[in-house]
Amino acid sequence: MRRLAISDEGGYRRVIALEPIPKSSLHIDMRSGEEIALHEMDDAYYAFQIDEALFLGTREADESDPTCFLNHACTPNLSFFEGEAVLINHRDIARGEELTWDYSTSIDDGLFDMKCHCQSPECRKTIRSFGTLEPAQRQKLLPYSLRYLQRKYAF
Ligand SMILES: [Zn+2]
Repeated sequence: MRRLAISDEGGYRRVIALEPIPKSSLHIDMRSGEEIALHEMDDAYYAFQIDEALFLGTREADESDPTCFLNHACTPNLSFFEGEAVLINHRDIARGEELTWDYSTSIDDGLFDMKCHCQSPECRKTIRSFGTLEPAQRQKLLPYSLRYLQRKYAF
């Protein structure tokens, strides 16, 4: 993935586009790593939820692997494609822009919350579990969410 770089300005790691990326031309396959049961999860993991009580990720971040350092944004430029754990860019991305996805499109752990600092005008301020979002937000995000959420929360 030479179109991307990991930046760690200020000790905060982000994934940055090294060149303009036209809509739908970037596919980031997130389907690697080890499966981790919910009761084994802790903050040391670089992981995301893929099913009821199941996560996918790694404890040792691969410093060269951008998938470990993709941050959340409430109006992201990446989203899951057709319910699969593959992120595509649903709009054009500019050179130097940070690549982000919406963590609520994978998380359904009712206890989860995390402050958001994405600075989008539509920022939800707190990143929550899919099931605790407002119904209108769920409806909007459902097409971009993982399949287990689409099945569980179909309108
Ligand atoms: Zn936000």
